[in-house]
Amino acid sequence: MNLSATIATAATKDIVGIYQPGSTHMVGDGFPVRNLFPSNDLDREVSPFLMLDYAGPQYFTPTDHPRGVGEHPHRGFETVTIVYEGKVAHRDSAGNAGVIGPGDVQWMTAASGVVHEEMHEKNWAKKGGTLHAIQLWVNLPRASKMSEPGYQTILDADIPSIELPEGTGRVRVIAGSFLRHKGPAHTFTPVELYDLQLKAGKRVALSLPEGHNTSVFVLQGRASVNGSQAAGEAELIVCKREGSQVVIEAHEDSRLLVMAGEPIDDPIARYGPFVMNTKAELIQAVNDYQAGKMGHLS
Ligand code: MN
Repeated sequence: MNLSATIATAATKDIVGIYQPGSTHMVGDGFPVRNLFPSNDLDREVSPFLMLDYAGPQYFTPTDHPRGVGEHPHRGFETVTIVYEGKVAHRDSAGNAGVIGPGDVQWMTAASGVVHEEMHEKNWAKKGGTLHAIQLWVNLPRASKMSEPGYQTILDADIPSIELPEGTGRVRVIAGSFLRHKGPAHTFTPVELYDLQLKAGKRVALSLPEGHNTSVFVLQGRASVNGSQAAGEAELIVCKREGSQVVIEAHEDSRLLVMAGEPIDDPIARYGPFVMNTKAELIQAVNDYQAGKMGHLS
């Protein structure tokens, strides 16, 4: 068998579809977001990811009163915030706090429950500027939903950044592996999360674990996956589970987020900031929050 025949036998992922964002809504007074899922009814196709909110890019005028979203709870999953522009400050009832700026990622494990706030960072807000970020929710398997809360600040400098040959672009590995480079995020189930920049007319071939759900979000530019139609700004290309080979081609200079992972096929029960497996667990979450069992901000 020659080399090209070997490559042809590696199973290429088919495309489920290209999805549009919802209209912009404000989360608190600081995060103008467009939702890609769950609004597109993609639970099964994007699992273990539960939610993708695309914030901005939007300019905020200078203020001495930082905007954001005040104290609120989460239980049953992880929130992952990726900042492209601007600065976001977080603090939570587990005692964790941090500021993330361009290139940084905050990976917060809510698990059994935290109360937190997500605000524009004070000094950044004073000067004003453009906010551009993504918040992803990553599900936890049933056995881990009531684990201890956790918190990972992943700074730009901690994220391997791989220059692709021939001026193709750059891959930043937030989670999982790309070639021999391993991302810093600790995850409960296997996840690959890449911040990908591709130059117009260039392509990159990814070999993902067989059976991992895979989707590609276009922040800027135009791109296609495995010969799909091109997707533009704020659109999401979703692949089928089957197969492992993903070729991403940029039709313009593009910034993309590649999200892949082993599906978690447990039942999903959602109520606002809580994502559990059953309705009874949601009622318990609301009761526990109201009883102060998820703590308070000091
Ligand atoms: Mn939150």
